[in-house]
Amino acid sequence: MERETLLTMLVMIFGGCALQALACWPDPLSSTADAVALERAAWLRVCLPALPMLLIAAWLAGWALTQPDPVRVPLDPLVVVALWLPFGLLFLRALLRALWALLREPPECAVATVGLMAPQIVFSPFLARQLDEPVIRAALAHERAHGRHRDPLRIWLAQLITDLQWPWPQARRRLHVWLEALEWARDEEARRQGVEGSDLAAAVLASVRFLGALSVPQRAALSGTQVAHARLIGDGQALRRRIARLLTPLHARQQTEGRRAPALLVQAAVWIPLLLALLWLGILYGAPVMRPLLGLTA
Ligand SMILES: [Zn+2]
Repeated sequence: MERETLLTMLVMIFGGCALQALACWPDPLSSTADAVALERAAWLRVCLPALPMLLIAAWLAGWALTQPDPVRVPLDPLVVVALWLPFGLLFLRALLRALWALLREPPECAVATVGLMAPQIVFSPFLARQLDEPVIRAALAHERAHGRHRDPLRIWLAQLITDLQWPWPQARRRLHVWLEALEWARDEEARRQGVEGSDLAAAVLASVRFLGALSVPQRAALSGTQVAHARLIGDGQALRRRIARLLTPLHARQQTEGRRAPALLVQAAVWIPLLLALLWLGILYGAPVMRPLLGLTA
């Protein structure tokens, strides 16, 4: 069997097992008034189930580097395919959804930040005409905060990680908790820059009214969670909680001032050395583990 083909299948089987085992982890997240801390904790809970899969992939890649190409696997190919098939279909579904989110036309929306690599703000001129200037400024401050944190990319990654844990409802709950906390954190960041909470609340409610006037197919396009952009509003159920927070005086949560959620680059600086260490361990110790597992000769 081609070495790369075997490696891909093994990553899907072992990584998929680890993901599915962690997906059902209930992981309750206690609510806190500190939106930035809540967003950071919720983001980690979305991402952590994927970490063992990445570590396993790095370790297996290290092992594969020490193997001849093609690898002679004495296991019956039908057994390998039967083991791989459920995980292969799961990965295929998640990748197709991720690709669809990238390639589809952005749906009509009121205000949104779009673009994975270079986030841009999309503001409907029809909505802007209905809003006062302070409300427009508030909406833009919120969307700029999304852009600074590269939230469209993070939403896309979070959706991909969640799809890999299908069909566990706990994974979807972790995603929804994070998406709600994300909106709260960006609201708070905009308010720390001088935006009035009441103006932001007015922008949110105007967006809801604007979206309510859209046609049914347009609203259906917006309701999909795989949309790779950050919108000014979250889902409808979160609206009341969000407006209540926006109308709460900011001084009650001033302890978050000056703190920032770790940027993607900072997280990568932690994860990349860890993955390289596992790659190295796979090179050194992969063969003694994999040899009996796959029935390989020395
Ligand atoms: Zn938003």
